Amino acid sequence: MLTNILALLFVVMATAQQAATNNTKVILITLDGLRWQELFSGADQLLVGNSEYVNDTTALKEQYWKETPTARRKALMPFFWTEVAEMGQIHGNRNLGSKVDLTNQMWFSYPGYNEILTGKADDARITSNDKIPNMNTTILEVANTTAKYKGKVAAFGSWDVFPYIINEERSGVPVNAGFELVTGNDLTEREKFLNELQPKVPSPWGTVRLDAFTHYYALEYMKKNHPVLVYISYGETDDFAHDGDYAAYLTAANNTDALIAALWDFSQNDPFYKDNTLFIITTDHGRGTDPLHTWRDHGNKVKNAGGVWMVLFGKGVPSKGEVKTPEQLYSNQIAPTILNILNLEIDPKKMKGKLMNLKM
Ligand SMILES: [Zn+2]
Repeated sequence: MLTNILALLFVVMATAQQAATNNTKVILITLDGLRWQELFSGADQLLVGNSEYVNDTTALKEQYWKETPTARRKALMPFFWTEVAEMGQIHGNRNLGSKVDLTNQMWFSYPGYNEILTGKADDARITSNDKIPNMNTTILEVANTTAKYKGKVAAFGSWDVFPYIINEERSGVPVNAGFELVTGNDLTEREKFLNELQPKVPSPWGTVRLDAFTHYYALEYMKKNHPVLVYISYGETDDFAHDGDYAAYLTAANNTDALIAALWDFSQNDPFYKDNTLFIITTDHGRGTDPLHTWRDHGNKVKNAGGVWMVLFGKGVPSKGEVKTPEQLYSNQIAPTILNILNLEIDPKKMKGKLMNLKM
């Protein structure tokens, strides 16, 4: 009799726990090619006053140069280094032994996003940034093909290759990326205005739009449709770095920090997302440091460009702040960890990454 009651109690508790976990919403965010060096130390001493990469070094230094790395990073990314440092976890400060690495050996965007979104590097098949529909299955697709999450998944990207990386056609996941407008019969006033504005604000690049468009399209969609799993990919940091414009690269990092702060504020003011949303933020690759000009570049010929970082906060994330003890995380752990949080099955053949233990 007692064992029966205990067994019943166990079932009730397990179900209650599962129901609680099932409620979690996930917002996965990437900042293309933002170096861990700037995230953890702010403006780079060798670049911030370097007239080869900065037009107005005095103005840039005034804005972002401080005596200590902790003051510099706070000036650059104030949301990350005040609120997130208090409530979440910031992994990847290699100066302290906290390492986050890619497992793919390519160190550029498509392989990086494939690894983050599918949980497995695919260096045999993903060898370029070409617009080839991904043969691998992303977690967005895994979720969207279940009855529970169908229609509750969405992706927004500044780079026009995302419809291919996510394989929009096969997965059925709505992807708004590149210079796409939003379509539908129920557009909000803001969506209509974004559609009007986007073609009238020329992007500096042919394949990447400015991040504000990606951000506000995502935000409007979230207000309207309340997706459970959202992926937002910001791109400015990478493109300004390729351009060799260090001031614009820092401005983009600072801007994206504010956009993420706004997403967090939105989530805390929307009953659907409030207190049950997990934020995971990372990057698709690092960049070089030595020789100095390699800060502009990445790819496997650039030394150490496989070093990345990871930031977590929100539902189920114990506060650890900046991780200051040696650890080794990999980008391929993000996908299975998200599936696990959403109570979706993980196929170990398709996903190499181990689940992250956020409590450790
Ligand atoms: Zn790049």
